[in-house]
Amino acid sequence: MEISTYLTLGFIAVGMVTDNPVLLAIPTALRAIANVAPSYFPLESPPSLLEKDVKKLTILEGYVDEIKRDLGLENMSVNLYVSHMVGENAFCLGNSSSLTGPVVGIGHTYFENFNSRELKRSSDYQRWQLILNSLSDEPLTLAKQLDNLPKGVRRDIFNLARKFKGVLTEKELKGVLAHELGHAKNNHLLKSGGYLGLIFALLTRIVPNHINLVGFLLLVKGMWTVMDGVSQHHEWEADLECQNASRYAEGLHLVTKKWLISSLVKGKAFSTYEGKVEEMLGSWDIGSSHPNHARRMRNALNMAANPKQTERSMSYTAKALSLIGGASLISKGALDAHNIARHFNYV
Ligand SMILES: [Zn+2]
Repeated sequence: MEISTYLTLGFIAVGMVTDNPVLLAIPTALRAIANVAPSYFPLESPPSLLEKDVKKLTILEGYVDEIKRDLGLENMSVNLYVSHMVGENAFCLGNSSSLTGPVVGIGHTYFENFNSRELKRSSDYQRWQLILNSLSDEPLTLAKQLDNLPKGVRRDIFNLARKFKGVLTEKELKGVLAHELGHAKNNHLLKSGGYLGLIFALLTRIVPNHINLVGFLLLVKGMWTVMDGVSQHHEWEADLECQNASRYAEGLHLVTKKWLISSLVKGKAFSTYEGKVEEMLGSWDIGSSHPNHARRMRNALNMAANPKQTERSMSYTAKALSLIGGASLISKGALDAHNIARHFNYV
């Protein structure tokens, strides 16, 4: 999804500078393909698989069928493939209404490590699983536990987290796949395209008709900041799908927990991990399309504790976003109508 976004932006920018109608039409065409027939989206050519890999992929397709049933998507045909573009991640292109069905790409690292007997037998991996289970599922408590451990033990945990972050159990992989199918079920790609148009309409209302390059870049930055907010809302919704079909929540939570542990050694250093996680929990993650891992873990716990309240507050956010978008479109329409009327009066 992000690649299609960058491609779109690139074509818009070059198209605007060169005033080339073909380049300007490409973003619309790409968005249309991504939504209507994602199987034809020029993302990457799926790699050819060895016989053992085909068997593995068949197992994963079985998981997808199971998740589809649990998410009420029995009639949707999903195209699952191994992506070399992402390693320890997964993504979804398309919606529940896509003619060719949505495309779910699973990162090659996840795929290669899946069901690896060698890894399961390794003593380091077994040790890592024990450590992971002994650490709290609540992000702040987890950080406090890490703070209280001797430095050497902590370093060992971080090394193991880095080494095994890309190794998922069956439960964890199902959690990731359920999250991706949650995006397709909620038509997130279609909605984000709609929001992008609405935000553009709103911003062009408040910026002058002729802007210079700096103005254009600021406009794009503004649009993207708002789109990141929309995207984060979609992440919560996809996580909520895992909660609703509750057997996928635990797997996804464990993946997020691994991500959180390995992310603690990156970025700005804090005197305590508790301090770092506290800041993460209080952050709005402005400029990021995904909420940080601490917020995701905390939110998953809140969702599990108050499912009705979470669903209600999320539907309020969705309604508020639609209202802002609708208002911007109406005001843009009214302004255009006013301009046309004025034009006819004076000519
Ligand atoms: Zn997602």
